[in-house]
Amino acid sequence: MFSYRHAFHAGNHADVLKHFIQVQLHKYMNQKDTAYTYIDTHAGAGVYALDSAQAVKSGEYVDGIARLWGRDDLPPALAEYVDVVRKLNPSGKLRWYPGSPWVADAETRLEDRLRLFELHPADIRVLAENVRKLEAHHAEQGARARGRRILVDHADGFHGLKALLPPPSRRALVLVDPPYEVKLDYKHVRDALEEAIKRFPAGTYAVWYPALQRMESRQFPDRLKRLPAKEWLHVTLSVAGPRADGNGLHSSGMFILNPPYTLEATLRETMPYLVQVLGQDAGATFRIEKGTPVTGAVAARGGIAGAPRQPVGNARRASPLSGGGSLRLPGQAFGDGARPRAEGEGEQGGTAGRAPRAQAAGQRGPRNEETARGERAAAAPRGAGTGSRTQARGPRTETAAAPRGPSKRGGSGRS
Ligand code: SAM
Repeated sequence: MFSYRHAFHAGNHADVLKHFIQVQLHKYMNQKDTAYTYIDTHAGAGVYALDSAQAVKSGEYVDGIARLWGRDDLPPALAEYVDVVRKLNPSGKLRWYPGSPWVADAETRLEDRLRLFELHPADIRVLAENVRKLEAHHAEQGARARGRRILVDHADGFHGLKALLPPPSRRALVLVDPPYEVKLDYKHVRDALEEAIKRFPAGTYAVWYPALQRMESRQFPDRLKRLPAKEWLHVTLSVAGPRADGNGLHSSGMFILNPPYTLEATLRETMPYLVQVLGQDAGATFRIEKGTPVTGAVAARGGIAGAPRQPVGNARRASPLSGGGSLRLPGQAFGDGARPRAEGEGEQGGTAGRAPRAQAAGQRGPRNEETARGERAAAAPRGAGTGSRTQARGPRTETAAAPRGPSKRGGSGRS
């Protein structure tokens, strides 16, 4: 428990995937004037120093955000994401990396609300202090929200989510991003989403997950497809083929329930570029699929290894927009890079086509160091939260101290 610290992984390829999509989700939400609530069930520390001992030790950002930093040919969605990172690094030197709460702060408006949950005793203090500084900075700039714009809760985000739905404004964007350091996290995500959708079917729910070879991970997307949302969109980014020892986070996915209708086209435009720039060997690839909930008895067989592959549910082929990718019916196994593809097999234009590389900096271990050494069967940290509300105050600890945030003006805040 509590072995996971995001500071080791901040800015890696998985963060790039997650945060560029998060930016797009906010931009879509911002198209309507009505305020919304952003709920981050697993917020982390908020912002990360890339020259901290943790970040330097893992060096993961080197094969993530650092590869995009100097580029002048970014597709629009990546340019918008890199812009958020740039605002934290006005000198031009990449030193700070925004976690999901920071991305949310940059992309929301004064009238929107941020509700952040974090359970780690050290990270909650860092997050609270970082948020306190951020709000002080906004206030200095004259940006004052009515009521508390950002609330930080030292509590279990799976439980906390329930209590916040439906949100007062009847609009919500939810990011679910646990460490998956215990297998039960997969189940907790599914269960929490099932409950959340029951309470608030209209919400947009974005789930990050590590696309590992372990069974829970392989079956996870198919389990999410059965949730009763109107639609889902699923994308994975593999920066390398799987390693022979099964270690290393080479691939991750974002599963979005009730996605913006514009997101698929954005992914199709962006993912080939990401594969090209972040790809570490010939196994680098991406996949995009979308559909409506998978239901019925056939669906129940969809994720079972060895079961005959049958098209199930209502998945439909995504329209061929710009860029390549691979699409599949939900009954087919979604390889998630778990199997190196043979020459010439498979996807249209999804691979990086690069020479294999020796051990890459971003491949030092999976997202969770604990998992790299062997799976833990311990119970997930449910109910461990105090439930006490941290009023964005508290001593500073060792992780990143927040630099001054970008100024937040009142009004639309749209770019
Ligand atoms: N969302 C963050 C970002 O993108 O910057 C990263 C979050 S990190 C992957 C997962 C975080 O969840 C860790 O900081 C961990 O301490 C925290 N955590 C683990 N279990 C939790 C729970 N049940 N509720 C809330 N936070 C939890």
